[in-house]
Amino acid sequence: MAVGAATGIPATRYANRLGAAREALRREGAAALLVGVGAELQWLTGYQGMPTERLTMLVLPMEGEVHLVAPRLEAAPAGAAPAVANGAVELVTWTETEDPAERVASLLPDRRARLLVSDRLWAMFLLRLQAACPAATTGLASEVLRTLRMVKDADEVALLRRAAQAADRALLAIAHGRLVGRSEADVAREVRQRLVDEGHEQAAFAIVGSGPYSASPHHEPGERVIQAGEPVVLDIGGTVGGYYSDITRTVWVAGADGAGPGDDFRHLYAVVHEAQQRGSEAVRPGVACSAIDAAARGVIEAAGMGAHFIHRTGHGIGLEGHEDPYLVAGNDEPLPEGSAFSVEPGIYLEGRHGARIEDIVVCGPDGPDVLNEAPRELLVVGG
Ligand code: ZN
Ligand code: ZN
Repeated sequence: MAVGAATGIPATRYANRLGAAREALRREGAAALLVGVGAELQWLTGYQGMPTERLTMLVLPMEGEVHLVAPRLEAAPAGAAPAVANGAVELVTWTETEDPAERVASLLPDRRARLLVSDRLWAMFLLRLQAACPAATTGLASEVLRTLRMVKDADEVALLRRAAQAADRALLAIAHGRLVGRSEADVAREVRQRLVDEGHEQAAFAIVGSGPYSASPHHEPGERVIQAGEPVVLDIGGTVGGYYSDITRTVWVAGADGAGPGDDFRHLYAVVHEAQQRGSEAVRPGVACSAIDAAARGVIEAAGMGAHFIHRTGHGIGLEGHEDPYLVAGNDEPLPEGSAFSVEPGIYLEGRHGARIEDIVVCGPDGPDVLNEAPRELLVVGG
């Protein structure tokens, strides 16, 4: 498990983020942010930390010193976190016989106030904190952090772009390598290796859906052997400097005669391609998230296949693989400039075949900044 600092983000960014979070906390009228291990901690301090039963928690009060409470045995990596190393956050360690929830509570200006806890804080930690502060009310840290984290700064965009391009290279290498006669699981293992070889610190997922499984968006690669004359959906990603890549391409594995797909699959693919392009083109600051979904979905509906596009058009991406904003009907929140998200329509004919195309897009000042560069046309590969 990786521990320590994210790379590629200058340490000064963390002091600015902590300041912005504190401002938002004041506006919200909450007394403190309590942030456990996860993307929010990483965004605020550069510290990844270990998600274990020992509590690690950033205590950011409305005013006064900011503390990172960490187990004594993790003092070295916690102390090396950029926000701690540059003095924006003071490290407090607890020993094995201490109660860390009590330690956190002792750093609060008021135990009866409103506390915002990180969204993915484990229930066991929340319950102990509530026991230490029985009169406090709790809410979610995302109330103040989500709009801040949604807007990526130039260093974050640079990492997302590096991740996207590394994933492009890994995907194209797989698509142009041998596929016929190999199991999906075997190809997935190669995907993971190539993601790392191309510069990811870790592979996060490797969906390889062949033949009928191309119609299952979150297919778990298994022992099915890839045949000539069928599609394969490759949806792969990992992290670079903590930031995720996530790309999908659908390839057609040609038969020995080099034949491409029949008209039905060609048509299906052309509709997905058009939908993906329309979705990306609709990206502008201030456009409703739901409008991006509608732009992509409208193409698929017009082709009479709306019922087979069974998921939202996209999700935000950053230190988490899925985060705000979500491009889905009903989310009329305006897209902020600097937000990063996937545009990934698909059509899935259950039991037969399917296709999806996914790029990561940043909402630039004048329109989309598409981070992935791998071709979107149907790749007919030798197999
Ligand atoms: Zn994906
Ligand atoms: Zn995705």
